[in-house]
Amino acid sequence: MNSQPHTGSYYAATVNDVTDFSPLRGAHSTDVCVIGAGFTGISTALHLAERGYEVHVIEANKVGWGASGRNGGQMIGGISAEGKIAKAVGTDGEKIMWDMGWAGHSIIRDRVSRYGIQCDLKAGYLDVAIKPRHVAAIEKEFEYLSNKDFPFEIKVLSRQETQEAIGTDAYIGAMLNMANGHLHPLNLCIGEANAAVANGAIICEDSPVLRIEPGKQAIVTTEHGSVSADFVVLAGNAYHDLAPKLRGAMFPVNSFIIATEPLSAELVAQINPHDVAVCDPNFVLEYFRLSADKRLLFGGRCNYFGSDPDVIRGKLRPKMLRIYPQLADTKIDFAWGGTIGVPITRVPLLGRLSDNVFYSQGYSGHGVNMTHLAGQILADAIAGTFEQFDVFANLKPLVFPGAHSFRKPLVALGVLYYQIMDRL
Ligand SMILES: Cc1cc2nc3c(=O)[nH]c(=O)nc-3n(C[C@H](O)[C@H](O)[C@H](O)COP(=O)(O)OP(=O)(O)OC[C@H]3O[C@@H](n4cnc5c(N)ncnc54)[C@H](O)[C@@H]3O)c2cc1C
Repeated sequence: MNSQPHTGSYYAATVNDVTDFSPLRGAHSTDVCVIGAGFTGISTALHLAERGYEVHVIEANKVGWGASGRNGGQMIGGISAEGKIAKAVGTDGEKIMWDMGWAGHSIIRDRVSRYGIQCDLKAGYLDVAIKPRHVAAIEKEFEYLSNKDFPFEIKVLSRQETQEAIGTDAYIGAMLNMANGHLHPLNLCIGEANAAVANGAIICEDSPVLRIEPGKQAIVTTEHGSVSADFVVLAGNAYHDLAPKLRGAMFPVNSFIIATEPLSAELVAQINPHDVAVCDPNFVLEYFRLSADKRLLFGGRCNYFGSDPDVIRGKLRPKMLRIYPQLADTKIDFAWGGTIGVPITRVPLLGRLSDNVFYSQGYSGHGVNMTHLAGQILADAIAGTFEQFDVFANLKPLVFPGAHSFRKPLVALGVLYYQIMDRL
């Protein structure tokens, strides 16, 4: 298995810091060995290192190489399938899910300020409506948040206010939520990795893990080394093939993003003067925002399983122009994709493969906040507190053995189904 450099994204082209951690060589022992250096793995490692644990993070490629360094950078509250989880928890379910749904944001804000991470973190997010039923959902959400004494500004926007806020008449309304926001995910991930190292963690890049041998001391093996650990955390999300059961519990779904050239001040004033992230309500959704250097980053799904930037550009540009015809003469500088883990049940998958081998994966489109919370939950579990861990671990994953192998026809079929639902 060869390791790979970062994909050709806008993020990889604008990193503050290029990581160059040595590969794993020789035999080591540690308290916790984390597999995967995306948000889940790095967040876990930082939580543990801050508490004084010895941690080794073993990454197949580079820090933030997977979805964490490629995503839309939209920091969205809530947890996928939270209603289902709340119901399973019982009486306190709604309150527990409410607290957890915003916890990832607090962890991110705290780390950005504590470690001085430069990741263009900004507040401001619009949930936009395409159909009257979306407006009804937004109004319901507004009422729900208002009754919670929500400490951040929220506002329902009319069709005209939405048009004024984001310079398009593609939407019939929106809700502004200042608790949510956007950021440069790869710079956040690398900043957190550096913070983990400053707290004593050891990170190894270019070191694909070949197997995990369970035992009182579990052993994680790569081509040139091994780590024996009291605990292992598997954080490879949609990119690992280390546990067949976990592969079958999730669909690896691709999402794609294009980044334009930097826009003129006039265009910025027209299409996003308040610098908010925008996400539509469809299952097969579109999301967009401005980068710090004022490019439009426009993301969405399409029925494509490759990584050719020309193909991605060709598929996403028409979708972007439907929203912003005024960008017809604007160049597209970057086009890339990544894989999201979507559990069959939509419930994030946190659990144990054996007594001391933990895993966390499958956050659907809510990974930026949820991975940060997952890191805290895993660190708590390793320290012996299972309260939040068990909320997820008690919900057993639904395993469909072909979910990974037959993903192309299954995902294509699923997308078609959801596209039909979106049109209703
Ligand atoms: C295009 C795109 C847009 C998205 N947009 C958003 C968004 O705007 N907001 C949001 O909240 N979420 C979004 N998401 C989802 C979010 O990015 C993910 O949920 C989150 O980053 C998952 O983090 P992770 O650390 O679990 O996995 P990843 O970031 O995928 O990291 C897994 C890591 O494990 C490593 N690995 C795998 N196998 C091995 C092995 N055998 N040995 C060692 N290492 C291994 C991989 O190399 C990788 O670095 C998006 C995802 C994509 C792809």
